[in-house]
Amino acid sequence: MNIHEYQAKRLLKDFGVPVPRGYAAQTSREVETAISHLSDDEKIVVKAQIHAGGRGKGTFVDGYKGGVKVVDGRDAALEAAGHMLGNTLVTKQTGPNGRKVQTLYFTEACEIAHEYYLAIVLDRETAQSVIIASTEGGMDIEDVAEKTPEKIVRVPISPTMGLRHHHCRRVAFELGFEGDQVKQFARILTGLYKLYWEKNAMLVEINPLITTPTGDIIALDAKISFDGNSIFQHPDIQQLRDLNEEDPKEVEASKHNLSYIALDGNIACLVNGAGLAMATMDIIKSLGGEPANFLDVGGGANEDQVTAAFKIILSDPNVEGILVNIFGGIMKCDVIARGIVAAAKNVDIKVPLVVRLEGTNVEAGKQILKESGVALTPADSLVHAAEIITKQVSEQKG
Ligand code: ADP
Ligand code: MG
Repeated sequence: MNIHEYQAKRLLKDFGVPVPRGYAAQTSREVETAISHLSDDEKIVVKAQIHAGGRGKGTFVDGYKGGVKVVDGRDAALEAAGHMLGNTLVTKQTGPNGRKVQTLYFTEACEIAHEYYLAIVLDRETAQSVIIASTEGGMDIEDVAEKTPEKIVRVPISPTMGLRHHHCRRVAFELGFEGDQVKQFARILTGLYKLYWEKNAMLVEINPLITTPTGDIIALDAKISFDGNSIFQHPDIQQLRDLNEEDPKEVEASKHNLSYIALDGNIACLVNGAGLAMATMDIIKSLGGEPANFLDVGGGANEDQVTAAFKIILSDPNVEGILVNIFGGIMKCDVIARGIVAAAKNVDIKVPLVVRLEGTNVEAGKQILKESGVALTPADSLVHAAEIITKQVSEQKG
């Protein structure tokens, strides 16, 4: 689960990481109040809040440039806000459709001596947390990693030992900090790690972390991703969820306890079990098709869940065919078959539907489908099922 920059900065502040003073706003009235808290004699930064980076270099769909603006005083801030609020911002990370800006963040501007990059991320390969830091902050860290990998410092942290002072000193020295800045940096990294660890984050990223001309170190941007599987342990974090930023189909799926992830293809999959769902997607791809989603209805799905699953799948305008692949273990094939029949009655399935059932009560399941009269093609094996659906979908296209 991701949160907005302004929320991430509140957390950083709670954990002792210095951030500029700032105020969030969602309506024009809130915009005025937020701006009134900042000085008219100084520069103000107006920042579009979306769950995507690259805002500074982004462009709004109406041609207005920049989702992060450093402006002179309140009137200019108000004007920038007028362009941004409700407008759609396209950045390198949003995809071509961009994201509608529904929240703005107004902060004090800082004078920047240098921009650094600092993050802690969960590295699944080594099963450790890793500090990633660079003197090349403010830009795409992926670009730095590609063009000048020697400018990226990676320091693993053992999960049993946690962050130690020597980690902080090592990264501080690699970034070239001296004297009091080493102490400041150690406090920042310690706070960042504490936040990362206690709140079960998978990524905390400050880009840029800056030094001011007087030597202070401050976080100017913040991104935090939390582990969705542990979010129930953190009601304070759960509250920060912004459903506007999530795919409505995924939001609906989570209400029905379905694991659904929208993808770009046209063949929808409805499968029980995450591993089987991935195998199903792999086979579709290997036959030249493109999966429209990942969907695991789980081991004990009921009729209502299967109906909800069909509704979600069909609400995706890209879907041109559906492949149902069920292996009845705990799940019984007749239950799924009844779910499919109920769904077909409830939702108008206009695209080809291929159903492969195997396992417990498979004969009963097949019988139910056959007697129901629902328009579908049965298949006996996964490969067979995938071949039929990819063929039917490509033939439709002509
Ligand atoms: P994004 O990464 O989405 O482009 P950032 O918050 O990193 O957004 O802002 C982009 C750039 O704008 C930063 O690299 C920094 O140079 C500048 N900037 C952001 N916030 C401030 C601020 N409070 N004061 C001065 N400059 C800022
Ligand atoms: Mg940034």
